[in-house]
Amino acid sequence: MNRRLGLKFAMVAIFFVFSAPLLKADGETQPGRDPKQAVDESYTAKMKKYTTEPFFTSPLVNYLPASKNVPTPEAVLGDVAGAPGILPYSTDVYKYMRMLEKATPRVKVFSIGTTEEGREMIAVAISSEENLKKLEENRAKLAKLADPRTLQMNDAEADKIVAQAVPVYYITGTIHSTETGAPTALMELAYRIAVDDSPYVKEIRDGVVTLITPVVEADGRDRMVDLYKWHLAHPKDYYPPLVYWGKYVAHDNNRDAMGVTLKLTENVMNTYVHWNAQVLHDLHESVPYLYDNTIGDGPYNAWIDPILADEWQMIGARNVADMTKFGMPGVFAHGDFDTWSPGYLMFIAALRNGISRLYETFGNGGADTLERTLEPEEYARTWYKQNPPLPRVMWSQRDNNNYEETGLLVSLHYFNENKRTFLKNFYLKAKRSIEKPNTEGPAAYVLPADEVRPTLQLELLRVMQKQHVEISRATSSVTVALPVKKEKKTNKTPEKKEAKKDEKPEPTSKTFPAGSYVIRMDQPYSRIADALLDHQYWSPEDPQKTPYDDTGWTFGELYGVQVARVTDAKILQTAMERVTELRVPGGIKGEGSIFAIENHGEPALASLRYRLKDADMQAVEEAFEAGGRKFAQGTILVKGADRAQLDAATNELGLPTVAFSAVPSVKSHPLRAARILLMHSWLGTQTEGWWRLALDKLQIPYDYASTQTIAGTPDLREKYDVILFPPVGWGGSLDNIINGLPTDWGNPLPWQNTPETPNLVGKNDATADIRPGLGWDGVAKLQKFVNHGGVLLTVMDTSQFAAGIGITTGVSSSHAEKMKIIGSVVGTRLVDGASPIAYGYSEKVAAYCDNGPVFSLSSIAGSRRRRKLGPEMGERPTGRGTKDDPDFAVGRLGMAAPEEPEMEIWENPSITDEQRYNNSRVIPPAMRARVVLRYADAKDLLISGLVEGGGEIAQHPAVVDALYGKGHVVMFSINPVWRGETQGTYSLVLNTVMNFDSLNAGRKNDEK
Ligand SMILES: [Zn+2]
Repeated sequence: MNRRLGLKFAMVAIFFVFSAPLLKADGETQPGRDPKQAVDESYTAKMKKYTTEPFFTSPLVNYLPASKNVPTPEAVLGDVAGAPGILPYSTDVYKYMRMLEKATPRVKVFSIGTTEEGREMIAVAISSEENLKKLEENRAKLAKLADPRTLQMNDAEADKIVAQAVPVYYITGTIHSTETGAPTALMELAYRIAVDDSPYVKEIRDGVVTLITPVVEADGRDRMVDLYKWHLAHPKDYYPPLVYWGKYVAHDNNRDAMGVTLKLTENVMNTYVHWNAQVLHDLHESVPYLYDNTIGDGPYNAWIDPILADEWQMIGARNVADMTKFGMPGVFAHGDFDTWSPGYLMFIAALRNGISRLYETFGNGGADTLERTLEPEEYARTWYKQNPPLPRVMWSQRDNNNYEETGLLVSLHYFNENKRTFLKNFYLKAKRSIEKPNTEGPAAYVLPADEVRPTLQLELLRVMQKQHVEISRATSSVTVALPVKKEKKTNKTPEKKEAKKDEKPEPTSKTFPAGSYVIRMDQPYSRIADALLDHQYWSPEDPQKTPYDDTGWTFGELYGVQVARVTDAKILQTAMERVTELRVPGGIKGEGSIFAIENHGEPALASLRYRLKDADMQAVEEAFEAGGRKFAQGTILVKGADRAQLDAATNELGLPTVAFSAVPSVKSHPLRAARILLMHSWLGTQTEGWWRLALDKLQIPYDYASTQTIAGTPDLREKYDVILFPPVGWGGSLDNIINGLPTDWGNPLPWQNTPETPNLVGKNDATADIRPGLGWDGVAKLQKFVNHGGVLLTVMDTSQFAAGIGITTGVSSSHAEKMKIIGSVVGTRLVDGASPIAYGYSEKVAAYCDNGPVFSLSSIAGSRRRRKLGPEMGERPTGRGTKDDPDFAVGRLGMAAPEEPEMEIWENPSITDEQRYNNSRVIPPAMRARVVLRYADAKDLLISGLVEGGGEIAQHPAVVDALYGKGHVVMFSINPVWRGETQGTYSLVLNTVMNFDSLNAGRKNDEK
């Protein structure tokens, strides 16, 4: 304890000699009310009434201090926080926070941006009047600790600030809309910190700026309140599940801290960075009764500073200890949550030198008081859960609010007591981030200027920018030394060792051209950049057998662009300049009325196609030369376009375009702005939400309809060229997609705007009853659509569905048995580069795979690969002669055995004469499936993350174009569109769309 603190304690102690003995023997301030301050008796009585057991509250929240001028949450709610039957809309919560702001100088409200649907997000600062007056001054101090370069990395200077600055503790509520309790808990918490004069709370008020975003997912919150109102109005009925939360995604809104595609992530990130907060504490509700999952379980994210892991232990252990002393059961800090993925909202702090925290408290998914029965593993006493939750209790929203507020208050108090340590750590972590090139490395990441996919490089750099990572650009070329790879010990045979002698030596240096982008690791936010750009390895031997989320995410791989990890610190001495505006040059060069645009699988090409809807665009099927330049297969030729318009569009989109007066005749086909229908199931809208988000960002128009609407559309082919059916997600099995939710019993579950549900529909879909699925009529409509020349694109579970309804000639789909590929980056290989689906792609394509289905090919309709009878006969049988000689049979002339065709797993099996004989099921070569990409060999499958038992899927098709009638079903086992992180594979989808009526281009039929 330093002297300043000692003096403070002494003064407090003297004061309390004359009042109540509120100091513990250990010198810490006792939690509990100030007897001199009046209590709001009626509010306190109601809190007590709604708390279902005396041990579900604490001395911190079992009373509410009264105030003459500051309104309690009752002013807006009409009852106390956590009262049964009451869930406020986001605007009600904001209204209350602004009432507080008006009533007391200890509260200030800031608008921090809007959601996709235009709802406001706020941050509420609560602290002493004095602290709030000096907010800007204090923020400038914290900014210096956040960026030690401004202090010349001088620890003594930092210590001066550490001794004075007021830290910021940022709390975020209800990002998950079905987890409903946080807003009322945070309304009351704001009141308590502003009003309560107990020494315990006063220390928090005077010592810390508590910053609160009470509603993170404002769109989803208002929908959830609507649903709850509908439930109250129809108490005997089932009420609909929350099908849509935000405009695009549901639960995954807490997986967006890598890609930063959602407004809520961006707004919280900007707020965290602007305030230089030390903590980001996110509130969730799914585990009884309070699981502080920040300590959680391994493996921890490999890029966090170990100082942070210690801070998690400090705060988490103390949190459990304090609440245990209050006698509150079910508070623990270890459990089923690894901290590997940096996609969670709280990771904004974890990889920005702050402290990430997350609570799971116990929620009822609304404000009903319910009897709750737990699973044995939930109430079992374990080494980390010494006072476990009870097997069965009545549980109320008030109970939940008591736990949330108590946990936050003990955390804030402990944080304040140790704030000098935490502020010093905040500085140290930032300093260590800057020292990274000289400690663990690397020195930098380089995105070379000669990138063939500059628009994708730009998109990746834009993510870095949203992440507040500094980007520089080399003004001259730079050569760096490459790390020397250590020779692995192997059991290679002598021949192989000899062969290795002839191999070319590995290069020892690499030169990057001037203009290359450099992401320096000597910056305060180096850790987030490193975490996103590096590779991940999750060992199959890891004791953690159930990864909580994705295990791999390497952005360079998933964006399909070059990213070099440079360990040679010389890179930092290169002349470079900071870049704040990112642009890729495009536009037209040359004279003439025919324009050529190279195709490197950049999604911007599809944006151009749709923007210039009426221009004649052709995709060339062969490489050609013009004007002394070579153009590859897939190059786009534009004819009859307005030059100025094309120039403006290609400029804006970053697509360099060459003009010619004439182009050698080359085989081509039209590239079309196909009419797209994006089909969703009411079973789940999240995974397809990432697809809507991608199309919207690319400004590609599409219709959006449910499987129910499909069933009622007489002629789909007349209206659409391509139907996209992205993954349904959990529950997306064949029978669920067709049957939907049970309709033989229960009541309709409407998703419609009504007086009770004014916010439900938003900009998405509506239905009188979400229960019916695609139905058999719908299956028939889809079948007819493909049969009449439409293209159906399916992914993962919907590929399984398409195979299941029998419209994928020669392709079957099954689940792997033991394989574990949990959200990993895997290698795939180009099989048929002549397919328009593959235009712009090279030999190796990295893709996102999450235990994708295993596709198998057959050349006989309705059967799988030929079954072998008897043992495998790879070599000659036992008999006469040497190994390479033919055997003989005594007494007759020998006969050479027919050649056994050697087939690869990704090839259509050859048909033998025996199989062909009178077999109407043999698929003619022109109708056999065409494999575009296959999974890499087992040893090359893993790029990032976890691949266990990959042999089951290795070499199997990853993207296959199946024929049915006059149309195509393009099946994906990988997921090409995921969380805004996989832009490198978007063009596999967009190529399918734009070439929908020429997918057979370049097709070679193997007549065997
Ligand atoms: Zn949650």
